[in-house]
Amino acid sequence: MPSVLAYHRPQSLDEAQKLASGKNAVLIGGGTLVIPEVLSNPSSETEIIDLQSVGLTGITSENEGNETSIKIGAMSRLSDLINNENIPHLLRELCSKELPSTLRTQATIGGTIAERSSESILLSGFLAINAEIQIHEKNWIPLNEYLQSSPPTGIVTAIKFFGPSDEFKSCFHSVGRTPMDVPIVSAVGYSKSKGNFQVSFTGVAEVPTLINASDELANLNPQGDFRGSSDYRKHLASVLYTRIAQEMQA
Ligand SMILES: Cc1cc2nc3c(=O)[nH]c(=O)nc-3n(C[C@H](O)[C@H](O)[C@H](O)COP(=O)(O)OP(=O)(O)OC[C@H]3O[C@@H](n4cnc5c(N)ncnc54)[C@H](O)[C@@H]3O)c2cc1C
Repeated sequence: MPSVLAYHRPQSLDEAQKLASGKNAVLIGGGTLVIPEVLSNPSSETEIIDLQSVGLTGITSENEGNETSIKIGAMSRLSDLINNENIPHLLRELCSKELPSTLRTQATIGGTIAERSSESILLSGFLAINAEIQIHEKNWIPLNEYLQSSPPTGIVTAIKFFGPSDEFKSCFHSVGRTPMDVPIVSAVGYSKSKGNFQVSFTGVAEVPTLINASDELANLNPQGDFRGSSDYRKHLASVLYTRIAQEMQA
């Protein structure tokens, strides 16, 4: 049995949206996750909708009041962010830690958002800096809202956030089995102005999770696995939060 019944490469967003509503349709950004999944399931009878000719690339910045808004098209590759000087250092660092270089040239920002992986440190970075995402080039939704609700249907078309202000501070801490391993728990701290900070965690819930105050740590209920039990992950979250608080308040 073939696992792929059809391959479509739509030339516009509307065409892609129409095809995506078909039975067994699967959207492909970079395909790093989808292709292995499709190939490992020979009876899936998938119709692939490849977004590579729809556009949705490019990183632009524009002034909004006295702030700079940076917009990244969903089909931008992770490697595009690393090479772009408008992207804050924190996000470039997270991109380079997220995937090996061969996959970074393939994996897209849209795929990373739509996948909503609990372990994505890049998605966690976007969450920490209050990014917003856009579905089908229409409404902007705070990333936090998107992650906390069930996944909407539709094509993710872009993500945007405000560039660093003068008082901006950020940091990243993580614990993994080895420095090269996907972190068991990681934390991105972000402070827009002195005194206030928030922390976004991976590895403590089904999606990256934002914490605004230390007492919210008690509400975490992580799923344990072979790398760390639920209690261990909660303990790590509390240790990482303390490290970030010290760094942010220094
Ligand atoms: C060897 C390997 C290591 C990996 N390591 C990590 C890791 O350390 N951390 C991590 O978080 N992930 C990891 N991944 C998973 C994966 O590479 C990332 O999630 C990647 O960023 C997905 O991007 P993509 O463009 O390749 O997505 P795709 O595989 O193309 O798609 C992923 C999902 O998003 C949907 N999708 C894609 N684009 C859009 C869009 N524009 N709008 C709506 N839906 C869309 C697809 O239908 C699919 O459900 C790894 C994968 C591999 C193969």
